[in-house]
Amino acid sequence: MKVSIDPTKCIACGSCVAICPEVFEMKEDGTVDVKSEWKGKDIPEELRAKVIEAHDMCPVTAIVIED
Ligand code: SF4
Repeated sequence: MKVSIDPTKCIACGSCVAICPEVFEMKEDGTVDVKSEWKGKDIPEELRAKVIEAHDMCPVTAIVIED
């Protein structure tokens, strides 16, 4: 599973960061993104449920999950 955020949709509400701070972060400029260590990388099993929850809770469906 890989995850990314569509910057054209994200409103930086912080919900995904609150749910899964291991994977998502708020940058100094106020935008939210996947942490660089996880960009393009396979999300490990133990974090997948939280990533899916963050995806499901995103108010603007900005979180993109790929198999
Ligand atoms: S939950 Fe969605 S809108 Fe909110 S910061 Fe995360 S990606 Fe952006």
